[in-house]
Amino acid sequence: MVTSVNRRDSYLASKVASLKPSGIRKFFDIAATMKDVISLGIGEPDFTTPDPILAAGCRSLQRGETHYSSNAGIFELREALTKHLQGMYGVAYDPASEVVISVGGSEALYLAATALLEPGEEVIIPTPCFVSYQAEVTLAGGVAVEVPSLMEDNFVLDPVKIEAAVTQRTKAILISYPCNPTGAVAERETLMEVLRIAEKHDLIVISDEIYDQLVYGDHQHVCFSTLPGAWERTLLLGGFSKDYAMTGWRIGFAAGPADIIKGLTRIHQYTIMCAPTTAQAAAITALKEGRPYVEEMVAEYDRRRKLIVSGMNEIGLPTFEPKGAFYAFPKVSVTGLNDEEFANRLLKEESVAAVPGSAFGAGGEGFLRCSYATAYDQIEEALTRINRFVKHL
Ligand code: PMP
Repeated sequence: MVTSVNRRDSYLASKVASLKPSGIRKFFDIAATMKDVISLGIGEPDFTTPDPILAAGCRSLQRGETHYSSNAGIFELREALTKHLQGMYGVAYDPASEVVISVGGSEALYLAATALLEPGEEVIIPTPCFVSYQAEVTLAGGVAVEVPSLMEDNFVLDPVKIEAAVTQRTKAILISYPCNPTGAVAERETLMEVLRIAEKHDLIVISDEIYDQLVYGDHQHVCFSTLPGAWERTLLLGGFSKDYAMTGWRIGFAAGPADIIKGLTRIHQYTIMCAPTTAQAAAITALKEGRPYVEEMVAEYDRRRKLIVSGMNEIGLPTFEPKGAFYAFPKVSVTGLNDEEFANRLLKEESVAAVPGSAFGAGGEGFLRCSYATAYDQIEEALTRINRFVKHL
């Protein structure tokens, strides 16, 4: 006879049930149902992947390379990647043991959190930040400790606040410059402070440098693992999505000390097997031939960046000058609306989609993330609409 048992509310694990839906997706979903929407909401290049990279992917398929690659990634790609990092930043990684090719930077983040964290261990995360960070840490059983960066500090982390957040349970600091959503970049001195804190408390630094080549003006990107003494305690994450306009190809990487990469690769092997072979072939060409195309895209982003920053400031929405990535982060709370209300009404009344800053964690409240990976004339039209919207408030 079947006896009755107490029914569960859900079969989902509580750590999953407690995850908040991404604030970005919510806006995409609403915008997708509307006509004539200008989207400043998307965090991906509007450019198609450059031709030689596309052609390399096609050729790989035509050669019949339709099989798994080695778990850590095609050796030629790992080799091209380590050469690229050496050439760009002067940092050395062994292609045989110190890099793993992942399914986007997203998987690299997942691998990092899963491989590094014991249950309850804390990761200090300067916010506002990419929406996945807190979720990845939570899913891995860790605790995300947000430390807000302020507009007054150019949205760069404050080392004093970071150190104040360290506890006995802290395992890692997760940083990302150039920053999504603010466009902030960090200078060498600030990164040295982070390293000093990591050394003092024996922490690992996870440095997500996925926007490394998208920097403007005279800013030079500093790769965290090149700081003196940093290499051993740095897990460098990166990817091809942003720099090479390759979001749909899904290729990223993690680089670091061999024992750590071995751990990440083991999880990758059991969960993913390998990154898509076609996309890996394309990524080799991105590294070997992509740089002039990146420079062209950066020049165009820079033109749009100037337009959107001056446009927002003229409208009366104070906007910090982003030095990297492709986001402007105007302060919309000066209108008296909070960021959610502003974004909701802007979408409904003027059909402009942008993401409320609070989606990116503490420190993002009151701001709006506007991507300028959008055509120049679309940005002009969006500014006209935003101006009208603000005037009517
Ligand atoms: N890191 C940051 C800071 C990002 O903004 C993104 C994408 N928005 C990613 C990682 C992940 O990108 P992907 O998985 O496409 O490589």
